[in-house]
Amino acid sequence: MSDSVKGTAVVTGASTGMGALYAARLARMGYDLIIVARNHNRLNQMASHITADSERNVEVVAADLNDPQQLAALEVKLRNDASITLLVNNAGMGTHTQLVDSNVEQMTSMINLNVIALTRLTYAVVPGFVKRGRGAIINIGSIVGIVPEVLNGVYGGSKANVLAFTRSLHRELADKGIQVQAVLPSATATPFWDNGGLPLSQLDPGIVMQAEDMVNAALVGFQRGELITIPSLHDENRLQQWEQARQAIIEDFSHNVPAARYRPSSKV
Ligand code: NAP
Repeated sequence: MSDSVKGTAVVTGASTGMGALYAARLARMGYDLIIVARNHNRLNQMASHITADSERNVEVVAADLNDPQQLAALEVKLRNDASITLLVNNAGMGTHTQLVDSNVEQMTSMINLNVIALTRLTYAVVPGFVKRGRGAIINIGSIVGIVPEVLNGVYGGSKANVLAFTRSLHRELADKGIQVQAVLPSATATPFWDNGGLPLSQLDPGIVMQAEDMVNAALVGFQRGELITIPSLHDENRLQQWEQARQAIIEDFSHNVPAARYRPSSKV
């Protein structure tokens, strides 16, 4: 059980990239940590480093979130550890390959990690948050959740799910004292690119954000109470205009007759 006033933050995918930076930053902010990924050695190194730096407690959970039993074990921890106050659903994988060139089993693994694991971990943690009237969830999406034409469409679809799911969580949980945030990074310098088969060196450096800048900015967005944080979007008005347009079209979605343009012609 954590003795931290902030409580315990669970960070998935904390062995490298953004997750490792989230873990280090959250410890400095006063959270104890449960850090999750497959690479046990790397997590242990992270834990020693973070404890030396921040003196916070760090628990290491080596788990493959694509393995149903290992995922279920983490769900049990999320359900039962009342010190948990923050879940950062960061673990994810991606690729740039075209749909027709992609292996469907790899695509299924990607959906399992990016969507199913994120959903199940959220389901596990939310009832305790509701009971205690306190908690927060940070879901790492991507700008390709809005622009699935970039990179691989299954990856884009999985990140669209993260955004839609987070919006819905916000609607259901905001009045129960629970904060949710969808973070939509653009291209960020992490092992993600090399792991996904497109070396980072092949990207235009002008569009690649440093991972530290991304995480620091996303945490400012979290502290601002933002539902959607896009660190690389410079003009905030554009996000507001997009939301206004979305709300306006929603008002016109529900009618009991089809639109005039869909009236069958008398010849049909
Ligand atoms: P990364 O450095 O490759 O980190 C991915 C993390 O997920 C690693 O810690 C990895 O650790 C863990 N992971 C992968 N498969 C796992 C599994 N089956 N079970 C448990 N953990 C697993 O990439 P990143 O860029 O930091 O990615 C973090 C998030 O940002 C992802 O959701 C990604 O989709 C999103 N994102 C990245 C970018 C970008 O340009 N980098 C842009 C937009 C969104 P192990 O290998 O030790 O398991």
